[in-house]
Amino acid sequence: MRVFINDKAVEVPRGARVRDAVAQADDGLARLLDSAAYVTDAAGRAIDAGDAVGEAGSVYRVVVTARREGKPRLTKDALRRWPKVELHVHLDGALRPATMLELARAQGIRLPADTPDALAKAMLVRDAKNLEEYLQKYEVTLSVLQTAQALERVAYEFVIDKAAENVRYVEVRYSPLLHRPALTLVQAIEAPLAGIRRAVAETGTRVGLIVCAMRTKPPAESLELARVAAEYRSAGVTAFDLAGAERGFPARDHRAAFEYAAAHGMACTCHAGEGDGPQSIHQALHDVGAQRIGHGTRLAEDPALLEEVVARWRCA
Ligand SMILES: [Zn+2]
Repeated sequence: MRVFINDKAVEVPRGARVRDAVAQADDGLARLLDSAAYVTDAAGRAIDAGDAVGEAGSVYRVVVTARREGKPRLTKDALRRWPKVELHVHLDGALRPATMLELARAQGIRLPADTPDALAKAMLVRDAKNLEEYLQKYEVTLSVLQTAQALERVAYEFVIDKAAENVRYVEVRYSPLLHRPALTLVQAIEAPLAGIRRAVAETGTRVGLIVCAMRTKPPAESLELARVAAEYRSAGVTAFDLAGAERGFPARDHRAAFEYAAAHGMACTCHAGEGDGPQSIHQALHDVGAQRIGHGTRLAEDPALLEEVVARWRCA
């Protein structure tokens, strides 16, 4: 007979338990019933998931909550299982240590450590004094990513790893400009797109690729990147970004690139308000038209701007 779980119709045999009906609708949700979720009837009354389903047409709702009976139920395991969206992650900051070592060996590059565990430790940043110091670690990852094959592989593995964490949609960013002169911009964009396509076919996780211009590079290169990236808009490049050391490298210098990207249908985001103050966020929003701010950790220093961002924009 047919019952409904969160508006989804499922067929269960008469006498089946509510838990079985939930599992039919969503296996992951059913697993949460022992920890972070519970079931209610159509009127919102909590019921035991071990009870038999009622008559045909019964409606049940599964409520996911971090707390139940006063005890915190939000565990790492539960977080891992929940379907998620991730909007801000850097491809060149998300390599598997074992892959880094393989790529380095194949290319004759020296890394700070020789085993995956030691390398993971060596790449961990705990005490960076500023954004510039933190960004130095990217020189290590980028050193092994100067071939199309390496970029394809890390993009593929990245999506596989995200899917394993039950991330259903992810936007991942990197700068094609940091793969020159070894690769052309076209090669540096097509390689990760190929890896992403391969992983999407295997996992079903949806992926948007964001290309980052660099504040520290000449604005002409940003415009060049915007022009090439716009050609790949329908192939998976969803947005244009600006990243890198912030202080002394204002976003407004790159306005032409943002304007080109926006005029050609790309969404625009901008790292701002981390290595510099909230005025940098203001500039990103008002001078170059960013629809989303990256990092933005110093936003709270300007309460009026904070209010404006909450009302009109997004941070991720
Ligand atoms: Zn970022």
